[in-house]
Amino acid sequence: MLSEDARPRRLVIVANRLPFSARKALHEQYARAERRAIFLDYDGTLTPLVPHPGAAKPERRVMVLLERLARDPRNMVAIISGRPREAMQGWFGALPIHLAAEHGVWIREVGEAWRMPKELRADWKPGIIAILERYMDRLPGALLEEKEFSVVWHYRGGHPGQGEALAEELFDHLMKFTANTDLQVIRGKKVIEVRNAGIHKGIAGQHWLAKERYDFVLAIGDDWTDEDLFAVLPDSAFSIRVGLVNSRARFNLDDSSEVLTLLESLAGGELPPFVPGSPPGSFPGSSSPS
Ligand SMILES: [Mg+2]
Repeated sequence: MLSEDARPRRLVIVANRLPFSARKALHEQYARAERRAIFLDYDGTLTPLVPHPGAAKPERRVMVLLERLARDPRNMVAIISGRPREAMQGWFGALPIHLAAEHGVWIREVGEAWRMPKELRADWKPGIIAILERYMDRLPGALLEEKEFSVVWHYRGGHPGQGEALAEELFDHLMKFTANTDLQVIRGKKVIEVRNAGIHKGIAGQHWLAKERYDFVLAIGDDWTDEDLFAVLPDSAFSIRVGLVNSRARFNLDDSSEVLTLLESLAGGELPPFVPGSPPGSFPGSSSPS
């Protein structure tokens, strides 16, 4: 059981904003590749984070981009998200892309039904929900999200200071409660999630990486849960963590707007001209997400 706070840190936080040389290499290798694997997170990566998880419906720009990437027969596109499969199906079900929901609890291959790679139990949920409900009363604006095999406490909508303090307390409480169980407690961005151990985005990534040989691998994510995916990628992969934070990923980008601009330039096949000193996202054709 690891939390964002408990995991070992390097002494210096080194973010590596995708430099122009790497951007160029990425475009060149993408253009040359015969088989490409593209792994994308959704929240915070293809769309900005919002206080209420239900409000993060993909904008048209994202749907057009995904469709465009997927239409290229050289591309295998997979969205690996913590979202429940109902949301994933509703938003992306019609696209010819692979989907993983609840961090890999559920997998949907293009054109197939959702299935669980590993049998899991959910009989632990009522006990955890009872604990979370007690904390709900103490933070107006907090949300409890119940998924099929995990439970999430969102505190982005609550008072910032109170939220952090209460999250600390809740995290300790849950760690004690789940000790010696097959559950794990995870701290993400303004969320605490309890889920079955042994399921994470890395396993979902490996599922697709094992099926075929790829000569280009790109993975982009913004959260601690995406680090599990970065960890299983081949050394040659382009891994990008959204947000200027320390990461296993080779590179960082500022926000989801920069991610969309980068992916659009790949899908469009042209490398955007580099203007020294230009602010992020100022390449031609970029626009800020609405
Ligand atoms: Mg995310």
